Amino acid sequence: IVRMQKLNKHFGSLHVLNDIDLEITPGEVVVIIGASGSGKSTLIRCINGLEEFQSGTLTVDGNTLKPDGKSSKALQTIRTEVGMVFQQFNLFPHLSVIDNITLAPMKVRGWSRSDAVATAKRLLDRVGIADQADKYPSQLSGGQQQRVALARALAMEPRLMLFDEPTSALDPEMIGEVLDAMRELAKEGMTMVIVTHEMGFAREVADRIIFIHKGEIAEQGTPEEFFSAPKNDHTRSFLARVL
Ligand code: ATP
Ligand code: MG
Repeated sequence: IVRMQKLNKHFGSLHVLNDIDLEITPGEVVVIIGASGSGKSTLIRCINGLEEFQSGTLTVDGNTLKPDGKSSKALQTIRTEVGMVFQQFNLFPHLSVIDNITLAPMKVRGWSRSDAVATAKRLLDRVGIADQADKYPSQLSGGQQQRVALARALAMEPRLMLFDEPTSALDPEMIGEVLDAMRELAKEGMTMVIVTHEMGFAREVADRIIFIHKGEIAEQGTPEEFFSAPKNDHTRSFLARVL
């Protein structure tokens, strides 16, 4: 569902992604790890067109993005088909939970309000906060807000979900509830790309782990291979620091 070939991304003189080749198949759960500044966020932001790139090719669900953003039709399609959950929940503070979730399906997909509300309620139930529908984001805990963000992304019926450190801004006791919701989603067969520092979670849900070092894929493999027998020196020293 994702095919990235020789993708290069620069911020000015900074070469942030270097010849990245990456293919993701439907239903696959890919976890991306690496040191701060290695390019993890930039990589997943390229996948849904939040960042332009300077060379290489990127196809997402049959839509091809060209370097330097010259493909606005494909970009629009990709943004509606790819869901994203950020570290900061990015909910609309002036909208209730239900309105946060129904906004895009009504506006972008043209759903009726009643259809959008029914779907939103089903999704809130699925992430365990059916009773919070009429509250505002500021009235919710971080873990609840992040589950609203997840429900909001799922309401667009995405073909692919991207997560950029979805639990990093949460108090420790709220991390579990968000990871549980993501675990469920993985079980249901959603294709997911997840940047996370939660190594236990990564080991458990990932089909494949990718280690990024200075904008390059230094190593990738199954969780078993990756954690038990890392081959790359940078991977080894990273794991020694975080495990
Ligand atoms: P972290 O674990 O801290 O989130 P990361 O692996 O996600 O790090 P990126 O955010 O992808 O790293 O950043 C990669 C590099 O690109 C860093 O050196 C960063 O300073 C730089 N960078 C990121 N965004 C921009 C930007 N908008 N303009 C200029 N440089 C940027
Ligand atoms: Mg990041």
